[in-house]
Amino acid sequence: MGFFTTATRSWLTRSTQPFTFTCNFDQALDYQSIHSLGLYVHIPFCKQICSFCPYCKQLYNCETAGYYVDALLREVHLVCAKQSGPKDVTSLYFGGGSPALLADDLGRIISTLQAYFNITDGIGVELNPENVTVQTLQKLKTVGVTRISIGVQSFNEQTLQKLGRRHFHCADVFQAIQSVSFDTVAMDFIFALEGQSFASVKLDIDTAFANGANHIALYPLIDFAFAPSGIKQMAKLQMKALLSEITAYCASRGYIRDSIWTFGKPGVAKYSSMTRDHFLGFGCSATTLLTGQFKINTFSLKAYADRINSGRLPTALTIHFTRRQRMLYWLFWRFYTTLVQPQDFENAFGVSLGNLFGVELWLGRLFGLLKMEGSAYRLTSRGVYYYHYLEGFYTLSYIDRMWNIMRQQPFPAELTL
Ligand code: SF4
Repeated sequence: MGFFTTATRSWLTRSTQPFTFTCNFDQALDYQSIHSLGLYVHIPFCKQICSFCPYCKQLYNCETAGYYVDALLREVHLVCAKQSGPKDVTSLYFGGGSPALLADDLGRIISTLQAYFNITDGIGVELNPENVTVQTLQKLKTVGVTRISIGVQSFNEQTLQKLGRRHFHCADVFQAIQSVSFDTVAMDFIFALEGQSFASVKLDIDTAFANGANHIALYPLIDFAFAPSGIKQMAKLQMKALLSEITAYCASRGYIRDSIWTFGKPGVAKYSSMTRDHFLGFGCSATTLLTGQFKINTFSLKAYADRINSGRLPTALTIHFTRRQRMLYWLFWRFYTTLVQPQDFENAFGVSLGNLFGVELWLGRLFGLLKMEGSAYRLTSRGVYYYHYLEGFYTLSYIDRMWNIMRQQPFPAELTL
């Protein structure tokens, strides 16, 4: 762990204590009294494995998928066994992998979850463009899905080739999403590849919004150490200029930025499985964030199913946050949305944001990273760029290390970050 990472962590947490995850885990999760809780389900199957992709996934196989869904349903029953009655949750997101590959099973998973939870704010599913057919979309709609997110990456053939992605027929995708309606139709793109121009990114944005998308995400390529794709990122200054051009262009078109990397048409509910205060995660590699702890399930499908079949949760690592660590985690993801309301912080932690982080917020304003919008703190364009940079740094310093170990060991004894 580099000096800069350690120094930043120590300053912000006001402690030299690192983030320590251990293999000890709670069999009963303390979530019943949490008001704002979301659900996440991980489906780790794809028809093609992309070299740049860091997520927990494997090639689709019908038999393994069936076995996995059975284990997943058992995990839901294990987690919810002590629940006293149906509990309100905000949203349910299916991520992966390519969850739509299991379109025929999603209804069963959703109804199992609905036996324990009232989902008040919709159900989202990620799709690979190859899965976007009228038939699949109708199946999703029938089981209650309200938001879809299509991992397009780019409409540009050269960019797709660089990424090693198969060609797909855009016209078929557009026809399908215009035939079956959803509240949110999001499309994901990748940017900051070496040689990628603003004109090419702009064409992706325009094509998406002109053909049925009402929300887009533009994620920078991040080269994970354990998944070296060989695909080169553009130089930092070029990336900074490109992000500014994207920001200005989306603003000029009236698209609302609802996080560092996402934009939507006004009034559209964003597609975001990460910006929730608390969530329960099911499936291998799924994470759970509660008031005082964060936990992550094993990445191994076999270990996942074996643990569940023995009646125990498939948790691989857990951290019990110090109060200050939990506040920082909250702030990190709130600033990702570009807007922080001090009252929300006070509601969550019972203390004033200014009292605890006054110096950092003052420095943020002094250096032009933050501005006041009423009583809220809004990231400026400069702040967005540095947050984007920080997010990449955080990903490589923490997530890359954690996922690398999790890919090698189903249940590591301990992890210190
Ligand atoms: S990018 Fe999508 S399709 Fe490719 S391996 Fe990752 S999850 Fe699967």
